[in-house]
Amino acid sequence: MATGDDIKAACADLAGILRDMLRGVAFTGAGISTECGIPDFRSPGGLWTRNRPIDFESFRSSRQMRDEAWRRRFEMEAAFGGAQPGRGHKALARLLAEGRLAGIVTQNIDGLHQASGVPDTHLVELHGNSTYATCLDCGTRYELGWVRGRFEASGGAAPDCPDCDGPIKTATISFGQPMPGEAMARAGALTAACDVFLAIGSSLVVWPAAGFPVQAKRGGARLVIINREPTELDDMADLVIHADIGDVFEAVGQPEAAAEIARESIWVFSWRRRVLCFEIRIKRLCWLSGAKRSRRYAADGVGRFSAAVRIGLAQLAGSGRRRS
Ligand code: NAD
Ligand code: ZN
Repeated sequence: MATGDDIKAACADLAGILRDMLRGVAFTGAGISTECGIPDFRSPGGLWTRNRPIDFESFRSSRQMRDEAWRRRFEMEAAFGGAQPGRGHKALARLLAEGRLAGIVTQNIDGLHQASGVPDTHLVELHGNSTYATCLDCGTRYELGWVRGRFEASGGAAPDCPDCDGPIKTATISFGQPMPGEAMARAGALTAACDVFLAIGSSLVVWPAAGFPVQAKRGGARLVIINREPTELDDMADLVIHADIGDVFEAVGQPEAAAEIARESIWVFSWRRRVLCFEIRIKRLCWLSGAKRSRRYAADGVGRFSAAVRIGLAQLAGSGRRRS
């Protein structure tokens, strides 16, 4: 069970690792942006529990899905459009400026690393960017304001490309869409050369992105995982910190703040951890046995059950988390 003292000791270890780091890589997921007000996918109440993502094939083949995807995008803009970088983004921008990080590889699509001052030359966006759009057929870029004008004028219909009639989509990589070759290659090169790999705020279940921490570890780098909940790769990491990302980086800068971390009700934390470990084990079993279709149904069912239990626990604790 994680206690304030465990976290404090882990933050001291992290401070040492960051001090000695020569060419680190930070690999970030949705968890680094939750303190900025943008929900992640898999936490209780996260986007996944409310809206199943629209996969690439459905987007391409169904006009109705395209309308729905753009409706969700503009709904998100209203809720999170004004989000500003959080403590994690700022700490990473500082480490980059100090020359300790060689680059940041992100799964996020929110543009908050750029907003914290990270130049494009040192940032790899594996899943693209949702702050602009492109035509899937001819690649022409469209700004969100342009799409929105047409979307609203037509009463909620996704516009097609005026040049080629192709579908227009945010410049993100959806499930089922090929990964961007150049971004994958840049992320691979950074990972191969790093001495420390910091996986921050990712459940590490989205592949192939989650392969980078594994590659780093196999290549001899030290692997650090900072995430509120356990991940499937915790077992192979050199240092795992289950705490709030912003709190951790604040504590690394000011050690006396570490004692304040992990105020989340300890029993809720420990039960959420147990449920997640159970989910990971069952999913592994599902994947090791059975036909492809039944594997998917079983994993889906377990995921939903586990998410429901975790949401229940979070509600029981009145959301229980301390915000500074
Ligand atoms: P995920 O939702 O699967 O996992 C996020 C993890 O972060 C969870 O395990 C959660 O416990 C942890 N977390 C949340 N807030 C935290 C905090 N304050 N401190 C510590 N840990 C915290 O996200 P993922 O692994 O990035 O994969 C989801 C996919 O969805 C990604 O591909 C990403 O592109 C996309 N996504 C992006 C955004 C964004 O751009 N901000 C938001 C939601 C989803
Ligand atoms: Zn086009």
